[in-house]
Amino acid sequence: MSAKQPPNRTTPRWGLPPWTVDFHSEQHPPPQETDFAVVGGGFTGLAAATWLRHLEPHKRVTLFEASRVGACSSGHTGGMALSETAAGDLPGLGDVLAGFSNILRDLQVNCDLTLPGALEIGRSGVLPSSPIAWNDCGTLGVTREVPGGTIDPGKMLSGLAQAATKRGALILENAPVENLSVEESLVLRINGSQVRARCVLLATNAESLELTGLAGLAEPKFTLAVATEPLSPEQISSLGLSSGKPFYTVDLPYLWGRMLHENRVIFGSGLVHLEDWRELLTLDVSEGQAAELLANLEERARKLHPSLRNVRMSHRWGGPILIADKWQPVFRRHAEHRDVIVLGAYSGHGVAQSVYLGAWAAEAMLGRRELPDWNLPD
Ligand SMILES: Cc1cc2nc3c(=O)[nH]c(=O)nc-3n(C[C@H](O)[C@H](O)[C@H](O)COP(=O)(O)OP(=O)(O)OC[C@H]3O[C@@H](n4cnc5c(N)ncnc54)[C@H](O)[C@@H]3O)c2cc1C
Repeated sequence: MSAKQPPNRTTPRWGLPPWTVDFHSEQHPPPQETDFAVVGGGFTGLAAATWLRHLEPHKRVTLFEASRVGACSSGHTGGMALSETAAGDLPGLGDVLAGFSNILRDLQVNCDLTLPGALEIGRSGVLPSSPIAWNDCGTLGVTREVPGGTIDPGKMLSGLAQAATKRGALILENAPVENLSVEESLVLRINGSQVRARCVLLATNAESLELTGLAGLAEPKFTLAVATEPLSPEQISSLGLSSGKPFYTVDLPYLWGRMLHENRVIFGSGLVHLEDWRELLTLDVSEGQAAELLANLEERARKLHPSLRNVRMSHRWGGPILIADKWQPVFRRHAEHRDVIVLGAYSGHGVAQSVYLGAWAAEAMLGRRELPDWNLPD
């Protein structure tokens, strides 16, 4: 299994979100051997590596991140914590939000998690009590309230990475896995070094699709977001957002959003379609379709409500998502080796799921839990 061209980003071409990731790994050469290798330093890989050491403090756990922790979706997310999956509930899934909060609590990760509920908004079936009345292809208002909430993505990434390190997992940044050989034993190649592992988790999401065996089976896309400058309490109240609940449309055109510290509001929408995941390596939000979609999103946000008309957008950014069959997450053993697990493709619905399923993957690697059967052929 080869990553062909492993990702290695050096410039913030995807724009800058309104949070920072306060973590830098120490420089170490890759070990010759590890019990568990985790590939990918997003929410999924970090949660799995931390949970492995939380449960088995004496096993060697090494996380390989091609670039920096949070370099991909997790650092460029919206940070809404949503229940279930993008495809709804799945057999044996359990309560994602409760599991997510429990894992963060057990690992002592403080990331400003709040779960006050989330607002489904739409152009029809609006509740008479809707606090929201926005102008966006009709009048947008609240149609239903569902479980959900928000996190600070920068704090969740650094909190998980610090929790992993504190428990003795080795995090190696700038360590792209170029190849995984499954012949006799599992051997990963990183920057020319070889690392033997007993068990591997591939948590590379929208990138390295040859490594995960998802090339041609899952579609990488790039999606966009903007954040306003801090708004006054009067502006927040007139927008109907005083409850602090995140929101997303249940009809089209799609729009999601949330509040962030300092009374900023984040709005997100838009999809850049990609033929090949490698287009992510050169995609620049200041050019082409991504720039057009960001400009449209800003204009749309300003027209939602008179109190947004003259608002300045302080941050603009985008990041990848991966959509697999039926919008269901991929969580399965690799076709070429049963000790290689592939987890990801949350279809833009991965903040809570990545941590919840990352911990589940850790338990499966330790032989304490079975994988679900969501990805078996019909
Ligand atoms: C703009 C935006 C808004 C979003 N909003 C929300 C939201 O509000 N709520 C929600 O639930 N979800 C949301 N999502 C989706 C959510 O952010 C993702 O599902 C989640 O972050 C995925 O985490 P991950 O760890 O699986 O993947 P990633 O964070 O993408 O991590 C994968 C990592 O693997 C690394 N990697 C790749 N190849 C290799 C290799 N060969 N060797 C080593 N490392 C490698 C990458 O560098 C990357 O760091 C959003 C996504 C975007 C882009």
